Amino acid sequence: MTFELPKLSYELDALEPYISKETMEYHYGKHHQTYVTNLNNLIIWTEFQNMSLEEIIKKSPAWPIFNNAAQVWNHTFYFTSLNKVENKVPNWVLLEMVNRDFWNFEEFKTKFNDMALKNFWSGWTWLVLNTTWNLEIINTSNAWSILTMPDKKALLTCDIWEHAYYIDYRNARAKYLENFWNVIDWVVIEGMV
Ligand code: MN
Repeated sequence: MTFELPKLSYELDALEPYISKETMEYHYGKHHQTYVTNLNNLIIWTEFQNMSLEEIIKKSPAWPIFNNAAQVWNHTFYFTSLNKVENKVPNWVLLEMVNRDFWNFEEFKTKFNDMALKNFWSGWTWLVLNTTWNLEIINTSNAWSILTMPDKKALLTCDIWEHAYYIDYRNARAKYLENFWNVIDWVVIEGMV
């Protein structure tokens, strides 16, 4: 199987001023594309060449096929959940779950951002649904993906590798996190609950 960079449902400048076109050109156009290209090159003539992306992530050894496959999946998940949006809060079903598990939406945002700030590694911060139907915020490092955790389902992720924000925010991860909430497409997230 040859993997391709997934098409976006929005233009590269759609997330401005929060995430610039230049960031998208590098992050999506170069970083994400490189993970796709590396993965295609690594799986040729291996047992992984006819597997789906999900199968590769679940079955491949930790390095380097896993890293590239998981980064393809993580980035696709991240970019798919972003868009130019009017509505900055989820619908009532998800909002009720947020209120139940985090007190209220503002408190949830604060907890999520705190978690992302504390993630020491290049990595990802996730909102997940667990088997008891509760929401949790968790960090993963490097390429590690929620897809490797069978008891958790990813709903939302924020890429906190420096390449995700360095062009727009330099070292100010907190500023990037603050603005991240302006470009989340809650309709996509709700569709996964
Ligand atoms: Mn990234």
